[in-house]
Amino acid sequence: MSAKPETTSPARAEAHASMAAGAIHLPAVHLILSDAACAPLIAEYGRVQTLEAARVLLAELRSVMLARRRDGVPVAATGDTGIPALLAMLSERLRDANRSPLRPVFNLTGTVLHTNLGRALLPDSAVQAVAEALRWPMNLEWDIDTGKRGDRDNLIEDLLLELTGAEAATIVNNNAAAVLLMLNTLAQGKEVIVSRGELVEIGGAFRIPDIMTRAGAVLREVGSTNRTHLKDYAEAAGPQTALMMKVHCSNYAITGFTKSVELPELAPLSKQHHIPLTVDLGSGTLVDLEQYGLPHETTVRETIEGGADLVTFSGDKLLGGPQCGIIVGRADLIAQIKKNPLKRALRVGKLTLAALEPVLALYRAPDLLPERLTTLKLLTRPAAAMRELAQALLPPLQAALGAGYEVGAEPMMSQIGSGALPVDQLPSHGLVIRAAATGRVSNALGLLEQRLRALPLPVIGRVAQDALWLDLRCLDDHQRQRFADQLALLAV
Ligand SMILES: *Cc1c(COP(=O)(O)O)cnc(C)c1O
Repeated sequence: MSAKPETTSPARAEAHASMAAGAIHLPAVHLILSDAACAPLIAEYGRVQTLEAARVLLAELRSVMLARRRDGVPVAATGDTGIPALLAMLSERLRDANRSPLRPVFNLTGTVLHTNLGRALLPDSAVQAVAEALRWPMNLEWDIDTGKRGDRDNLIEDLLLELTGAEAATIVNNNAAAVLLMLNTLAQGKEVIVSRGELVEIGGAFRIPDIMTRAGAVLREVGSTNRTHLKDYAEAAGPQTALMMKVHCSNYAITGFTKSVELPELAPLSKQHHIPLTVDLGSGTLVDLEQYGLPHETTVRETIEGGADLVTFSGDKLLGGPQCGIIVGRADLIAQIKKNPLKRALRVGKLTLAALEPVLALYRAPDLLPERLTTLKLLTRPAAAMRELAQALLPPLQAALGAGYEVGAEPMMSQIGSGALPVDQLPSHGLVIRAAATGRVSNALGLLEQRLRALPLPVIGRVAQDALWLDLRCLDDHQRQRFADQLALLAV
């Protein structure tokens, strides 16, 4: 159930051969397929696939057994090539081969919005809306009131305007696409002024200078890495300028002798030169997080009110929705963006819109948001809840791991992740596993990490300071039992 090598690996064939090595003759494939105990496999995987898997299994066993005889290895008397034993092997192989490569895991890394683990988890209202959109035709681009063709952006535009104070909105596949589309529409062949302190690389090959080139725009860097002044923007502005752009320092902070030009200072200059001002907010929250005891992160509304003509942000970071990129701002600029043929290439599908609408709707009740919006619920979870969980899970985990490891319940720090508030950390609690001082196995932590990953629901933690840290912030109450249930499989 746990460790499972590749379906056709020599190691697997070897293992099966040693189980089956008691006999030279293998049953004919049709006898395996017609056995009553094979019926459930055929019902689940189909006759074609089951037959093929049985043929491959028999061929592998035969060749391994022949090789053994040739090498003079005695055929073990313990093996079993009876049909029940072969069916058990077949069932295991078919199950492994049919398991989706995209699997649920436990995110105990301490990073709530973990890009490699799929970022925001969505609330049940969004899950239900997606399920319905999968089963039903939807009025994706069809106006029910008029019976005429509609625009998919209209399904969420009103809500976005209500929540951000912007004039218009459009939505694409992710924020990188939003930035690309915005630059390509408004700045192709022209200059975009950006401070040298804001030439961000987000990771996964999203870098402002590169995206600028791909959009056909010319980057006009101003200022220095640590200090940029208003006069730097003013001196660079001219007839060749299409945009002034600010980029949120999502995953780093410049501290010390620094100066950047904030929106209220830059906006009048852009207006004076009639150059649109665009802000890539990255995470882009829709509410003031301070009201929930979290650090302040600039909201989309504040950015619009601060004078930005356009704002781009992600749907699956702090907003807590599905992967998408949202552009809000001046109606004339949004209209231009929507006419760009690239919009058609970057548009979102019905599942994204189905998931996003109920998430945005939750923001109408900001007081209930920490209960309802999964991301906010996780971010505001009190450390005491994680401590109680750690204390409850410590004994069964220690029992499963045995004397080779020492498990502790300790405080630790979570982070928001995905470039939101990079320097702020949230007090949390979790399990810390260290290799026991006595009988220390070399690479004990590496082996442990591997064992946790081999569980049916892989557990992903973080190795640091000679310990494996399992931050329990993201282990919510209904996952807790499943986590505890599979601990027994860890025992060796
Ligand atoms: C995360 C981020 C992006 C990329 O957004 P995706 O939704 O991951 O495509 C772009 N800009 C900034 C500032 C970001 O933080």
